[in-house]
Amino acid sequence: RAKDSGKNTYHLYDAEQDKLLQRRRGKVQQLGQAVQDGQLVLHFQPQVDMISREIIRFEALVRWQRPNEGLVTPGAFLPDIEGTELEVAVDEWVIEATLRQLTDWKALGHRLSVSVNIGARHLLRADFPSRLKQLLNAYPEVAAADLELEILETATLSDFEQAQRSLASCRALGVHFALDDFGTGYSSLAYFRTLPVDVLKIDQSFVRDMLHDPGDRDIVESVVQLSNAFNRSVVAEGVETLAHAALLTWLGCRFGQGYGIARPMPGGEVLGWVASWSAETGWNGLGSELDR
Ligand code: C2E
Ligand code: MG
Ligand code: MG
Ligand code: MG
Repeated sequence: RAKDSGKNTYHLYDAEQDKLLQRRRGKVQQLGQAVQDGQLVLHFQPQVDMISREIIRFEALVRWQRPNEGLVTPGAFLPDIEGTELEVAVDEWVIEATLRQLTDWKALGHRLSVSVNIGARHLLRADFPSRLKQLLNAYPEVAAADLELEILETATLSDFEQAQRSLASCRALGVHFALDDFGTGYSSLAYFRTLPVDVLKIDQSFVRDMLHDPGDRDIVESVVQLSNAFNRSVVAEGVETLAHAALLTWLGCRFGQGYGIARPMPGGEVLGWVASWSAETGWNGLGSELDR
């Protein structure tokens, strides 16, 4: 009997696994079709100087516009395609859509910068720099310096030498790099020092908790000091309240990104947002959500 039920559980488990695998395959297939059908859209979220109100750049964040289902956030579909060819296709779509958007904004008289997220394994592919070069060549109106690539600290750790090569080749094209979710990857100082990254992005978990957790506050402060010591700039993610902005600027981090400044918005809303943001002045204008 015991053996029987053991066997049954095993079969049940097997069937469950199978279902999961099938569901995942189905999703990957749908997503592949979605890329071809033009169902991906980009939203853009600003990074600003929280003291001078200068707009630094926008981060491009991908969404999947499923027919009759609304917008699907990347957390619900990117994990399924991590490390696959499809992730490369999505990232390349994002880079190209960003270059197209920058070209359109430029034609309207606005030179903006945008950062895009690059999957960890994608960055490590030997042909990444040459593909990037092709894309940049296809959009000659855009200065490479107006494109920034956000990579995870952890991406550089899995194959440090390849990461260094890839970063150096892309850097030679003129693009800039940011280390995303910084502080979560435990990279050593020695490693970090030799990476040609321009920006450190403090992970939003530290920003969220720094107001009541002295340990998180210390981490934020350390990242700011690290960025100063190595001549990198630093951007805090997850700036939701005026208290966040106040403590961050007091700790020496002027650049922020978060719902308190603006939510990610469709490309068509960006120039309107730029105009209204630029028309306001001072702390009180930091966005209504920051006044909580
Ligand atoms: P990330 O690069 O760290 O992006 C920041 C995420 O935090 C975004 O979520 C953004 O909407 C969200 N966020 C911004 N401000 C706030 C805030 O004040 N509070 C909170 N709680 N969250 C905030 P999103 O758009 O869902 O993206 C999630 C992750 O998916 C990104 O994290 C990035 O790692 C990945 N991702 C997004 N777009 C792409 C892409 O085009 N390619 C790749 N490879 N990854 C992408
Ligand atoms: Mg990012
Ligand atoms: Mg991040
Ligand atoms: Mg993240």
